[in-house]
Amino acid sequence: MKPRVRFAPSPTGPLHIGGVRTALYNYLFAKKNGGTMILRIEDTDQQRFVPGAEAYIIEAFQWLGIEFDEGVHVGGKFGPYKQSERKHIYKQYVDLLIEKGNAYFAFDTAEELEKKRKEAESEKRNFQYDVHTRHQMCNSLTLSPEEVEQKISSGAPYVIRFKHQEDQEIEVNDLIRGKVTIHSGLLDDKVLFKSDGMPTYHLANIVDDHLMEITHVIRGEEWLPSAPLHVELYRAFGWQAPQFAHLPLLLKPEGNGKLSKRDGDRLGFPVFPLRWEDPQTSEISSGYRESGYLPEAVVNMLALLGWNPGTTQEIMTMNELIQLFSIEKISKSGAKFDLEKAKWFNHQYLQLMPTDELAKQFLPILSDHNIQISTEKVIKVVEMVKDRIYFANELWDHSSYFFTRPDHYDEQVIKKRWKEDTAVRLSEIKSLLNDLKPFDKTIAHDKTMEYIQTHELNTGQIMNCLRLSIVGAAKGPDLFDIIDFLGISEVSKRIDIAIQNIHI
Ligand code: GLU
Repeated sequence: MKPRVRFAPSPTGPLHIGGVRTALYNYLFAKKNGGTMILRIEDTDQQRFVPGAEAYIIEAFQWLGIEFDEGVHVGGKFGPYKQSERKHIYKQYVDLLIEKGNAYFAFDTAEELEKKRKEAESEKRNFQYDVHTRHQMCNSLTLSPEEVEQKISSGAPYVIRFKHQEDQEIEVNDLIRGKVTIHSGLLDDKVLFKSDGMPTYHLANIVDDHLMEITHVIRGEEWLPSAPLHVELYRAFGWQAPQFAHLPLLLKPEGNGKLSKRDGDRLGFPVFPLRWEDPQTSEISSGYRESGYLPEAVVNMLALLGWNPGTTQEIMTMNELIQLFSIEKISKSGAKFDLEKAKWFNHQYLQLMPTDELAKQFLPILSDHNIQISTEKVIKVVEMVKDRIYFANELWDHSSYFFTRPDHYDEQVIKKRWKEDTAVRLSEIKSLLNDLKPFDKTIAHDKTMEYIQTHELNTGQIMNCLRLSIVGAAKGPDLFDIIDFLGISEVSKRIDIAIQNIHI
């Protein structure tokens, strides 16, 4: 049977990269096995609904190249794929559970529940609505059928809770964690249906997974505590449960605790795929896309946070990831987010990108700086500096001197390298370079070295000062490549200007 998997986000804000990784693993698994990938929006919690979040999620996956076969944005024969449009479906299923004796009405008010909680707290216990406490509460297990009927018809607010079995070992077989067993007496009689007529996550999620014929539930570890209830719901309905795979957490760079939005703010990296502006507070959260990451790099980096192909191979295209992916190779322990590694992946993908494509991204930046120059020349510059950059938006900082004269000179280099005789030395080198006709960069290099040796000068000192006068700093690719690009007349001018302006 071909697998059917789903990514089921709640539209409560921008999608965290942990969620992106969950979706990616679902996608890789589906594609590897010729299966189907579904996007279902779980928006039953109206209070936490955030406008724009669904559109954000869809746009993020489009950017990343994670495609869905069925879903809220592409349709499919198991739709609708948004739970708020499926409201009419859930009631009959909760009724079925009541009928079978697997669920019950509970009329306890918020105050009554709070009172119970306080009582428990004063005895240093945790209050839980469960096998041990439900008989002291106000519900259809303690009231007579007439009382229940009367309460419901009088419009008293109620919820419907799942009725856990009294004394059972519940087994969750997880593809990553193996067998996890928990005693039913420890489980909470979770609310399945609320008085506002909406199902809770647990009911809607199970009903939809069943109706959408989901075969594998691949989701974050934070849902593992809910898995026993889910297994029990399948049992109560008499449905076959899907296979579960709970993914290890994405951890903070330091390794202690789950990676949060605050870590991103604190350490200066995005935790969301795209930039997000909170519609209520207008607070901005940065995104990988806007920070200059390539989608291929983000996908590759995320794939390896919690999984590896069993070899040391690190750079993998989406197709390679699909070929190599397997649930067995997902690690059990949390994966630490590593910003340097994220940058490293972007650097690698920038090097793999055809230079003319990278140059194309540079053109608008150049025109922002009022630089008019042929694309051919831009390609040449990009070729020379691309191995120094991690992001395309760093190109200007690493190459501005190819397009404009330096407007200042690095003080540190002046202090360390510029000597009494430097002006004279640079003038003489300028003349010998001007004498080369035609100009040839290899000969220029050899002649400069010969000059340095004949005059018994310090190579590092002279070359740094020559570079300083042309580039403005001690940075950049081979100096004679730069000279060759700029042309000897521009280089001569720059040397003159430096000599006039640098004083020690
Ligand atoms: N709506 C849940 C979420 O926001 C889905 C969890 C699941 O995959 O079962 O993550």
